[in-house]
Amino acid sequence: MRVLRLHPPKIEDIHHPLFEAQQVRVSVKREDGVHAIYGGNKWYKLQHNIQEALAKHHHTILTFGGAFSNHIAATAAACQELGLRSIGVIRGEAHYTENATLKAAQAAGMQLHFVSRTAYREKDSVQFLQSLQQLFGEFYLIPEGGANVLGAKGCEDIITKATTSYSHITLACGTGTTAAGILASCEPYQEIIGIPVFKDGSFLRKDILALTPQPNGVLELFTQYGFGGYAKTTPELVDFINFWHQQGLPLDPIYTGKAFFGVIRAIEVGYFPKGSRILFIHTGGLQGIAGYNAQQQKQASPLFIEN
Ligand SMILES: *Cc1c(COP(=O)(O)O)cnc(C)c1O
Repeated sequence: MRVLRLHPPKIEDIHHPLFEAQQVRVSVKREDGVHAIYGGNKWYKLQHNIQEALAKHHHTILTFGGAFSNHIAATAAACQELGLRSIGVIRGEAHYTENATLKAAQAAGMQLHFVSRTAYREKDSVQFLQSLQQLFGEFYLIPEGGANVLGAKGCEDIITKATTSYSHITLACGTGTTAAGILASCEPYQEIIGIPVFKDGSFLRKDILALTPQPNGVLELFTQYGFGGYAKTTPELVDFINFWHQQGLPLDPIYTGKAFFGVIRAIEVGYFPKGSRILFIHTGGLQGIAGYNAQQQKQASPLFIEN
């Protein structure tokens, strides 16, 4: 059994005249730099799940995701390095293997199994799981996005001694699992701001709290930065992301770009008291830009700068 090689995440201070004007400081914890594929928040969510699978003597990991899923990419790459068989149940049609994320997952040895959107909605039913067992034999199941208690527990490690000096910790939310782990392990004086990357994300509060038996900090959600829905974008968001890329902060279109947009907007409107020290957790996702651009190109939409 091999061990994963991870680079320790750096915390970088970033600068912009706006921050000085509003008298706040902004830093980014570059979890994206930990590994090109399973860096970001995804290895944190996988680590205890994979340990549990090994403890239960499983050799196969099965999980779920969409065609651009960072979780699918991360699971495939991590399983390859650890010598585990991986199966990805993918929402949608097989022609999606055209995209960079799924190609890479397949190249890492993941077996892809495509199911219709209708079938995918039933993915947690006993019947569906039994049909998967008939197809693939025994496996350890990790839910979509690594969204379970073990996933949240793994994200507690994002908080370290180095993060204790910040007044606000901000991050993108999909399932809210990462925010849950951070909320459990942060300091009581810290405000954790989750930015859901889809419409009407206020329901996430109860999901996050369900995964956090003992919240430590204060939870806030900025729910107005969904940009019309999950994986939807606007020319304004493209410009924003490309601007920050040129400043040395690459962001992805689906998660970190929207979340950082929300942070900047909140600074502009004076949400943060003077003297605030704001930490943005870069949760990764940069692997998805190539596939996303390919789609944008088909619709002649503006493109994101790659790498
Ligand atoms: C998956 C993902 C998220 C969302 O994490 P949750 O724990 O589901 O909230 C945020 N950012 C990036 C880049 C991701 O890939």
